[in-house]
Amino acid sequence: MDFANRIGAELRAGATSRPNINPSDTTEVVGEFAQGTASDVADAVAAAREAFPAWSRTSPMERHGILMRAAAEVAARAEELATLLAREEGKTLADARGEVGRAAQILAFFAAEAVRLMGETGPSIRPGVTVEITREPVGVIGIITPWNFPIAIPAWKIAPALAYGNCVVFKPADLVPACAWALVDILIRAGLPAGVLNLVMGPGRSVGEAIVTTRGIDAVTFTGSVATGRGIAAACVASQPMKKVQLEMGGKNPLLVLDDADLDVAVRVALDGAFFQTGQRCTASSRLIVTEGIHDRFVAALTQAMAGLTVGHALDAATRIGPVADAGQLSTDLGYIEKGRAEGAQLVAGGEILNRPTQGHYLSPALFTEATNSMAIAREEIFGPVACVIRVRDYDEGLAVANDTDFGLSAGICTTSLKHATHFRRNAEAGMVMVNLPTAGVDPHVPFGGRKGSSYGPREQGSLAREFYTTVKTGYIG
Ligand code: NDP
Repeated sequence: MDFANRIGAELRAGATSRPNINPSDTTEVVGEFAQGTASDVADAVAAAREAFPAWSRTSPMERHGILMRAAAEVAARAEELATLLAREEGKTLADARGEVGRAAQILAFFAAEAVRLMGETGPSIRPGVTVEITREPVGVIGIITPWNFPIAIPAWKIAPALAYGNCVVFKPADLVPACAWALVDILIRAGLPAGVLNLVMGPGRSVGEAIVTTRGIDAVTFTGSVATGRGIAAACVASQPMKKVQLEMGGKNPLLVLDDADLDVAVRVALDGAFFQTGQRCTASSRLIVTEGIHDRFVAALTQAMAGLTVGHALDAATRIGPVADAGQLSTDLGYIEKGRAEGAQLVAGGEILNRPTQGHYLSPALFTEATNSMAIAREEIFGPVACVIRVRDYDEGLAVANDTDFGLSAGICTTSLKHATHFRRNAEAGMVMVNLPTAGVDPHVPFGGRKGSSYGPREQGSLAREFYTTVKTGYIG
């Protein structure tokens, strides 16, 4: 079956289509998905603009109802959607279930936010004059998402956009259109009027660029790599009129392990943060910064724990680490493993292509020791199951190394010292800080985002999401 784009009330086939391939078994086609064009984007923008006046004036309770119905359907179909997610992206079924559950939670959270949006009124400094501060929808939002969270990231952008009365033109990553298609279908059937939510699938260089440059899109929210994000921001500022822009990009997240850490906790936190979901999380702990006194014990215990990680087909119940998402990402991972060796780091575990009964992109999780923070494997986001251990003298050096990065998404520390935990929480240059917890894993109701090269613009998720999806009006009543 071919999955078509959704433009206005129309299910529109693409001029061409693209097979969605299962990375656990590259002989399996998950589905054929339409490839849209810039002209499809133009039609989607026109449909969204036409729908906007009526949609932006709907009762918040109506938007609440639609988002709640969508949340209920996502939850009711969790097993089917999780299986689809695991097949198209390679996340294990357990992790896919978690992601689908999160999408349902996000839809429910923003359903409530729709009816919670209030303004403020107060006296002007001019006697007898009242001033009110209200929030209005921004208009038509262009949404561009990456491949590593095929349903959660679309949900956390689409749900607030709709909750606050915006219309949407959405382009998912071309590698993972199936969950995106299912989510859009669920939302439309939950009661969205035609044109409020439009889906145009296809490559970033055509469909994505059209979203960024087409007049009629008021704001663009993007999650993906720094290079693409930088170009999108420049194009949004250059467009006429300028588009509001929000970017969530990469990470090179540090996990600082101190001498006084509980070793079991530190190993569990590092194993999860560095390797679960095949290391393909922007919040993954790819730099393990370890103080001298615990270094050797930590490396020995972590490599032992890594040996117990079963790499295999995402749908196999025994699998803990699924395949790498595609051949391109696998070659990037292998390239960095080579680079790490060439730079003088010691590969102490993994980093090998694995053969499994099905043809998939299987790579054993790789750990480097004797890395320095100036090596490419410590500075550049790899986005795979590759982590490096950097040895430091003490907490102060560890904090300095943790902060010595162009990124600032998440940062973690494993310690039993309240003093160091508190100091780290206050001084880590990151948007999210974790003590004795993996750097990945932020609740759906709190702000998500970072600093420096990791994020640009207002935070996503939680109530702060309204900063991007609404625009403030200051009104005077004489
Ligand atoms: P990319 O930047 O390559 O792509 C992200 C999205 O942008 C895709 O939909 C892509 O299309 C699209 N795109 C590509 N080029 C353009 C363009 N010129 N104009 C408009 N859109 C374009 O990132 P990946 O998909 O490879 O995702 C991995 C990256 O995402 C990692 O760097 C990771 O850190 C980051 N990420 C960040 C998160 C965060 O919240 N900070 C969360 C999750 C991931 P297509 O690929 O379909 O061609």
